[in-house]
Amino acid sequence: MSKKFFIISLISLLLFLSGALLFIGLDKDGLPMIKDAVGETSGFAVYTKDGDVIPTRTIKNIKKTMPSPIGIIENPPLAIITDIYGKTLESMDNDRLVLIIYVDGLGYEIYKKAMDRGIIPCLKSLGTAKKALTVYPPITDVAFASMVTGRTPKYTTIHSREKKPLPIPTIFDKAAEKGKTSKLIEGDIRILVDEVETILNIDENKNGTIDDEIYERALEELQSPPHLLLVHFHSYDDFGHTYGPGSQEALNQLSVLDSYIENILKNYTGDVIITSDHGMHDEGDGGSHGSFSGTDLFIPIIIKNQ
Ligand SMILES: [Zn+2]
Ligand SMILES: [Zn+2]
Repeated sequence: MSKKFFIISLISLLLFLSGALLFIGLDKDGLPMIKDAVGETSGFAVYTKDGDVIPTRTIKNIKKTMPSPIGIIENPPLAIITDIYGKTLESMDNDRLVLIIYVDGLGYEIYKKAMDRGIIPCLKSLGTAKKALTVYPPITDVAFASMVTGRTPKYTTIHSREKKPLPIPTIFDKAAEKGKTSKLIEGDIRILVDEVETILNIDENKNGTIDDEIYERALEELQSPPHLLLVHFHSYDDFGHTYGPGSQEALNQLSVLDSYIENILKNYTGDVIITSDHGMHDEGDGGSHGSFSGTDLFIPIIIKNQ
């Protein structure tokens, strides 16, 4: 075989394979389509350009019947990040304290991998999380707004990292309405523009992460907890961006967070929700998120009732 013929064959094969890959990921209208292998439902979840997620039984004539679809998930999980709002209200209505532990960047895929590898024994001891959808684009501000309002970006109006007030009430507003107290423990910046009492933290010991300070602050708060407390850990996402979501560095940090969560749970009596905002995919030497992919769009939700 001549060298030229070999190169032409190789290029043709690569073109064919890349075409096949693209084809697998698109529906007949050319929309990105994710098939969930587990498949809890028989329908579809359609993500639309205006920031909504619409469940539907059929995707026939989707371009005519939906407001600008941008992607489809076939057999989507039943749960979605907006469920956290309702679950929190339910706990408050039953006069139980509620704690939301928010592990930034922990997608369902890596959560499962970490469980199987024995990296997160505390989370594992709580049983398998519900697989849930997050909103699009799967980035912190957008998903966080949907988590605390129970509505998709179409209604939160948060579609990017641009900081602006939410036009609809959050669970913190709902708590205040019910005469209940709430607090949010954060890193060094406020992500949401919201009235909630926010405790900001800095990397006091300069060890490269604020989560140890956030953890210490959470333990202090738990001595006399508000009715609703949300603790937002960022380090897994940070390490994932720098080293890759499945890197030793990121997984080691995830195991540190698991030990924080274990100790927090020991010191708390109330309902607990452990969840995330989005996943993360490999990109170059590190990680990124914001794409229409199962890796970025599926998150775990763990609910532990008192
Ligand atoms: Zn995030
Ligand atoms: Zn991130």
